[in-house]
Amino acid sequence: MKHYFRSPWWAVFFIFFFPLLVVHSYVEFVRDSELNARLGWLLMVGGLAYLLRHTWLQKIMLGILALMALSGAFDILYASTFGGVFTSASFEAMALTDTHEGWEFLLAYASFANVSLLVFYVAVVTLSLRNIDFKTIETKRQRFFAGLGVLMAVVAVQQVYDRGRYFDVIPGFVGVGIDYARGHEGMAEIIKARQQLYATKPFSVAMSSTEPQTYVVVIGESMNRHHLQVYGYGRPTTPALQANQDSLLRFDNVVSAFAQTSPSLQVALTEANLQNKWSYDKAISLVGAAKKAGFKTFWISNQQPSRTPTTPLAAMADESHFISHDFKGVENHRYDGYLLPSVEKALSDPAAHKLIFVHLMGSHLQYRNRYPEEFALFNGMDGVKAYTDDLSSSQLQYINEYDNSVRYTDFILGKLMDLLKQQKQIAALSFFADHGEEVFDSKDFKGHGPDGVTKNMVEIPFLLWRNAAYQQAFPETDAVLQSRLQTPFMLDDFFHFGLCFMHIQSDLTRPVQSWCAPEFEPVSRVIYGRDYDKEWP
Ligand SMILES: [Zn+2]
Repeated sequence: MKHYFRSPWWAVFFIFFFPLLVVHSYVEFVRDSELNARLGWLLMVGGLAYLLRHTWLQKIMLGILALMALSGAFDILYASTFGGVFTSASFEAMALTDTHEGWEFLLAYASFANVSLLVFYVAVVTLSLRNIDFKTIETKRQRFFAGLGVLMAVVAVQQVYDRGRYFDVIPGFVGVGIDYARGHEGMAEIIKARQQLYATKPFSVAMSSTEPQTYVVVIGESMNRHHLQVYGYGRPTTPALQANQDSLLRFDNVVSAFAQTSPSLQVALTEANLQNKWSYDKAISLVGAAKKAGFKTFWISNQQPSRTPTTPLAAMADESHFISHDFKGVENHRYDGYLLPSVEKALSDPAAHKLIFVHLMGSHLQYRNRYPEEFALFNGMDGVKAYTDDLSSSQLQYINEYDNSVRYTDFILGKLMDLLKQQKQIAALSFFADHGEEVFDSKDFKGHGPDGVTKNMVEIPFLLWRNAAYQQAFPETDAVLQSRLQTPFMLDDFFHFGLCFMHIQSDLTRPVQSWCAPEFEPVSRVIYGRDYDKEWP
């Protein structure tokens, strides 16, 4: 029995799989690549061990194993303390903590469970690595495993080279760390380029009204408008929007230009659109244009803190806040409601002209992680409209969870509208989603993306709430908007809409592009190469 524990196989197995076991018992969602990468490492190191007897290579291998064990120790500590998997957002949060605080922080979170898990892991790893007994090849089976080890090493190198991503190949903390370091550098460059563009590109902007004004742009996530009661869905998913219908304009024919976050927001929030095909990094953003016009700009987000295009846009804002940092990068139980205090703070800022972006997590990916328990309101079949009447129980559960997340987004919108009602000055809020989501509406699929795209993945809600002061100050704009409720519009021109809606005059835009101007001319809406109005089924 004893010799099993001296085998390199045991050491590698324990170093890679004990952390995974801990992570699985603390974290609700773990990516498949964590298991795959660890299996790959087991075969690679276990096999290579036969070839490295008594050479300096053996020492290198022990060093690598020690490093991977350190990585495993971090994974254990992080999962058992915060209930999350290390991601680049965790690094982002850690980078903002100074080392002194970091130490205090560890002490504050030390518990019997996380300390004993850590001590056990480190003790077993140390014993295993010290007593490891490397063997030379004696049997056919050992030769086979040695060959497999070499093959896995080749596959690992090829995977990193091919995909340019380390976290798929190197599991846990180390892989994420390498990707973070590389991504961080790239992001810093993108931010710098955007600041330079803003400083050097000549463009004119001017407010046409000096009246104090507050605008809130709420960006939803993965919201299919057919799941909103306010758009005719048979379930009470949007009571707050229903209650505010007097001040609300509901646009029924708005689509996103893509079915994915990044490409959609790149064109929605900048002067780039599908017509001019400009590259995002050459295009001034709504944040930049409003800022130059004299608005104080805010970016408040529950999304990942290092991601294009939102991070570079947030960096342009006068103030930005990613609540991911307050949660040490952990996504579990991080609901959009935690954004509200930051929005309240922004609203109380003394600046006379404010533009506040609020980027929600909305209905992203794991629907059931997007709302607190008390919002788990839908659990039966009532009001469900799906591609089949014969839904499986897991499909129905996804639909219910999705509708709960929609209901929670409605709750957030209600709170935001309540906050704006306290403003005496001109105030308005717009709400749209970056793209839609298929939730077994038209086929046996849930999610979004360019492959197998459906109408539900691009048909998004677009709502405008504006107070009486706005309607009195800008009656012509308001009348135009009221006449546009059925007009076809694509989200890639939100930049132009925004400038027009906030009455910012600019040479970056023409009235024909501005949805709220009387001169607006609809253009064909070609999404993924097909005309949405003519060629989509
Ligand atoms: Zn999205």
